Amino acid sequence: MVILSDAWTFLVIREAFFGAHRFEEFRSMLQIPRATLTDRLQRLVSEGIFKRIEYSQTSSWVEYRLTRSGIDFYPTFMALMQFGDKWLSENHGVPLQLVHADCGKVSKPFVACSHCLNKVTARHVTYRDGPGAGLVNVEPSKRSRRSSDDEQFNRGRPSSVSRALQVIGDRWSFLVIREAFFGARRFDKLQSELGIAPNILSDRLTRLVERGIFMKRMYQSGPDRFEYLLTPMGFDLYGPLVTMMAWGDKWRSNGKAPLILTHIDCGHDFTPTVICNECKNPVQAHAMQYRMRYNPDRYGGKKSSRALPG
Ligand SMILES: [Zn+2]
Ligand SMILES: [Zn+2]
Repeated sequence: MVILSDAWTFLVIREAFFGAHRFEEFRSMLQIPRATLTDRLQRLVSEGIFKRIEYSQTSSWVEYRLTRSGIDFYPTFMALMQFGDKWLSENHGVPLQLVHADCGKVSKPFVACSHCLNKVTARHVTYRDGPGAGLVNVEPSKRSRRSSDDEQFNRGRPSSVSRALQVIGDRWSFLVIREAFFGARRFDKLQSELGIAPNILSDRLTRLVERGIFMKRMYQSGPDRFEYLLTPMGFDLYGPLVTMMAWGDKWRSNGKAPLILTHIDCGHDFTPTVICNECKNPVQAHAMQYRMRYNPDRYGGKKSSRALPG
């Protein structure tokens, strides 16, 4: 989430999934300032998400291609997209329809157990410490996101992934939601688990209540005290969260996952896997075609539907 919570970084990765490789392609699609784009591309190369390819010493033909770890963001994007489609498209219809090349059907991928291929939900999963438990302590940035960053997420094209990241894409919101899935409900508990400043915590809780992720319930009066419970919409963030966790386990934990998940339905440990609802195969970027449900002319984009690059 540290990578995706920067709006520009997220948008650059997304446009790569839509087929952009060259500096000018990213720039014209996103209307991003040159210096900002240069900075984000450099960062993504140093993070190992993109590789920079120079075609010859003499020409200036340079391309930015997703690496394997970059391509591996695809399931996370799919999980965020399904969440955004379901909860945040506000009767406008979904921006993008997916057609899965493996089965030829319109696909609604979902997060499944790698063992039994059934859908995983928070209530049907238990967890225990893995070999990497307690090893890494990711410090969220002290800088909270400026509200202008929120709008950046909507650049370029209508996107359910952008809408989902607007809700959970700042680091503190993300961490608060994560703690809720570990069972934290009360202000004091959240504060002590996260070491978060009280004013920031109450800001994020208020925002997450407004956005429908939590409901606020009084559990004690005089003095009044409240707890924060995940709504059905909030519970649906479980899929995106465990998909991001799988990415982090694979690419950022040196083979030492901090947490091991067990699927209660089948009794097996599992890796969260995003699969096609029609054929149950894992979704991969190169095997998915898309149909835009918006007018691409308005976004300077590509007109025909085609396979996303792998
Ligand atoms: Zn299972
Ligand atoms: Zn399929």
